Amino acid sequence: PFEVLVLGAGPAGATAAIYAARKGLRTGLIADRFGGQVMDTAGIENFISVKETDGPKLSAELEAHVRQYDVQIISGQRAAQLVPAERTGGLHEIVLESGAKLRSKTVILATGASWRQLSVPGEDDYRTKGVAYCPHCDGPFYKGRPVVITGGGNSGVEAAIDLANIVSHVTLLQRGPRLKADKVLQDKLLSLPNVTVHTNALTTHIEGNGEEVTCLVYKDEHGEEKRINTDGVFVQIGLIPNTEWLKGALDLSSHGEIIVDDHGATSVPGVFAAGDATTVPYKQIVIAMGEGAKASLAAFDYMIRLPVE
Ligand code: FAD
Repeated sequence: PFEVLVLGAGPAGATAAIYAARKGLRTGLIADRFGGQVMDTAGIENFISVKETDGPKLSAELEAHVRQYDVQIISGQRAAQLVPAERTGGLHEIVLESGAKLRSKTVILATGASWRQLSVPGEDDYRTKGVAYCPHCDGPFYKGRPVVITGGGNSGVEAAIDLANIVSHVTLLQRGPRLKADKVLQDKLLSLPNVTVHTNALTTHIEGNGEEVTCLVYKDEHGEEKRINTDGVFVQIGLIPNTEWLKGALDLSSHGEIIVDDHGATSVPGVFAAGDATTVPYKQIVIAMGEGAKASLAAFDYMIRLPVE
């Protein structure tokens, strides 16, 4: 059995695996896709100390760094079930989608999250060419240019307030009749001079010139088609943690995020979690890496405190 078994090879999981291996622990890493969401990213300019990189490059570097260490990499596999140990210090079992079973003293869950998609024509074609999901990441690319945000919940309205500072104009589209964000955020939004809000606006497609986004098309409350010329579309309709398979095994928040304490510990002793799959706020590469390191050190701490058998 492993001493540390890490699930997910995005920034959080790769970091956790390296930290565990550096402690000399028997470490396994279930890596269905090195890099995780980073693989879907074009330019990255906020991975501090690296002025500019891109997703495939950073993902390859993550993989190369992990491979420098004695980590058993289980590629092309995903976890389907966690069976917690019956007693503290016992072995947890991870059942893979293939049916294979792995056992480990500690488990670090780093299965990340996925942005909910609009699922309209043009979204896939222009992803990273004007269709964006992360305002902290991509906002500065649209400096002085117009953007559209879809989604009138807290994340959409926060993104609008954030981007209004950087871009020339923000149009916020909400599918339903009213914004769902907290009142203070709505008040702030409506006080801004370069923001327009349309409710009852159903996005139907995103258009471009083959290279980048040029226009978003929506239907208004009368079913009439409206067009907005824009350079960017920020989709802000939710981030879904990849934790469906953990339901019932440990405590999840109402949003499905793994509830962790300030050591990355979950409700199951010996099971830790890090990155976008958890309740830790702000989903970013540097944060996921920091949390991965923390969860790994916490797993080590847990192990050295287990009674000698
Ligand atoms: P993830 O990167 O989501 O990795 C999780 C991994 O676990 C994936 O490989 C997934 O396939 C795997 N997995 C899922 N389920 C299972 C399972 N059941 N069993 C085993 N493995 C599983 N952040 C920045 O800081 N700067 C940016 O510029 C930036 N741009 C972004 C652009 C886009 C388009 C997107 C989508 C995100 C961007 N982010 C950016 C956010 C950043 O990518 C994430 O915060 C970060 O990748 C989270 O790391 P993670 O390791 O927690 O999860």
